[in-house]
Amino acid sequence: MDVTPFWLAGRPATGDEQLTVTHPYDGRVVGTAAVPTPEQVEQAVAAADAVRREAAALPLHVRAEALAHVSARLSERAEEVARLITGENGKPLLWARGEVNRAIATFRFAAEEARRWSGTTQRLDTDPAANGRMAYVTRVPKGPVLGISPFNFPLNLAAHKIAPAIAVGTPIVLKPAPATPLSALLLGELLAETDLPEGMFSVLTVPNDRAGGLVEDPRLPIVSFTGSVPVGWSIRDQVPRKHVTLELGGNGAAVVLSDSDLDWAATRIGLFSNYQAGQSCIAVQRVFVDRSVYDAFVPKLVESVNGLVTGDPWDEKTQVGPLVSQDAAERVEAWVDEAVAAGATVLAGGTRDGAAYAPTVLADVPADAKISRQEVFGPVLMVQPVDGVDDAFARVNDSTFGLQAGIFTRNLDVAFRAHRELEVGGVVIGDVPSYRADQMPYGGVKDSGVGREGLHSAMTDYTEEKVMVLTGL
Ligand code: NAD
Repeated sequence: MDVTPFWLAGRPATGDEQLTVTHPYDGRVVGTAAVPTPEQVEQAVAAADAVRREAAALPLHVRAEALAHVSARLSERAEEVARLITGENGKPLLWARGEVNRAIATFRFAAEEARRWSGTTQRLDTDPAANGRMAYVTRVPKGPVLGISPFNFPLNLAAHKIAPAIAVGTPIVLKPAPATPLSALLLGELLAETDLPEGMFSVLTVPNDRAGGLVEDPRLPIVSFTGSVPVGWSIRDQVPRKHVTLELGGNGAAVVLSDSDLDWAATRIGLFSNYQAGQSCIAVQRVFVDRSVYDAFVPKLVESVNGLVTGDPWDEKTQVGPLVSQDAAERVEAWVDEAVAAGATVLAGGTRDGAAYAPTVLADVPADAKISRQEVFGPVLMVQPVDGVDDAFARVNDSTFGLQAGIFTRNLDVAFRAHRELEVGGVVIGDVPSYRADQMPYGGVKDSGVGREGLHSAMTDYTEEKVMVLTGL
């Protein structure tokens, strides 16, 4: 099997080591990726540093054309890329194809935003002391970016680091997750087809125990991290003087109120608790249902979960495939068993087969069980009755996480209240918390992180305002 090269300052390279990528469903080897030596990592960072000024001066049309090229090429190679994702990650083709479509859009949105990237002017003569003066304000890159991406959306979350960096004219070094590097390396291949200057991007398959050097390198003053809570916050502690953006985990809540369409809510919650085997930071984990409709809703939810097609991720119809590893599935199993031992009732699922865990619905989960409090990151949801909006919102907020919440209601007052009162980065009215449009601001509060992604938000995040005062006007 050919070794997939990493990308060192825009060029393919191989090192002394390799990492093996296995398919979670059957453990077979699906790829081998080259691993850079410490010297090669140094060369990549030095190249990013060296090209900083040239990158910032790149004409907008050059940035936009490079981004549009990647979007178009992903579109041409969409099926191949989807199969690469299914191979390395184990997510069913259905979701892998969806991820490719999202990445196509992410690069397209970035190309559009790049063309709009501009400055402002501000008249200063609102004060007599500033008569004849005005300010010209632009946003300039804070410096080359270190992007660190997770295994669960190996293509689109790499895209969310790379695309805004190119759009604002700053170099980026991307470190993908070692379990799923192949689709991020393919992005490197597509970027290398563009006219971007050497050093503008590197994709380095650095193992976790060697990533600390990149995190601490002062030539990469921005760290944009997507991944787990402990790793994310430890990075922020490690480099307190850097600009660190953290997109971390959650235990997404959905609230089903009495005025909602119960069939729609049950279908959406059943699917988006289990899509990608629950391995999404905004998967539905906690479901709070108004007591007046609880007995009517729960059988619909169980029916929706039991109706999901599980199994081989290569089968076109499969909705729920394996988790990323057998270890991950065993952890989910242990958490469900702990909840059941403490009094929880299994309404659906509750069984494991290798790396696959059956879509599971739990009721009567104690408030201090891991399934109530932590991020399960597996195909498991807990459902609980609540007494009206106050109680529901208090339960949603009773979490150390705060990424997104989904409120099934048709009541606009309740919608605006949810937006005001819920301690999350986003509320979704009439649908699950799992909804994300790639151009919208996206991120969390509390343990779920700090800062926002989404093309325009990430471009703002990577840059700061710089003023020039003009005198004598
Ligand atoms: P992870 O924290 O194990 O790994 C994420 C990335 O960090 C990987 O590239 C990994 O190699 C790297 N890494 C690990 N240790 C490191 C270290 N010491 N220094 C530098 N880098 C290091 O997370 P994961 O298991 O790949 O992803 C799952 C987690 O990501 C879940 O908690 C999920 O909720 C979260 N996530 C969040 C979002 C979001 O946008 N909020 C999106 C997807 C996933």
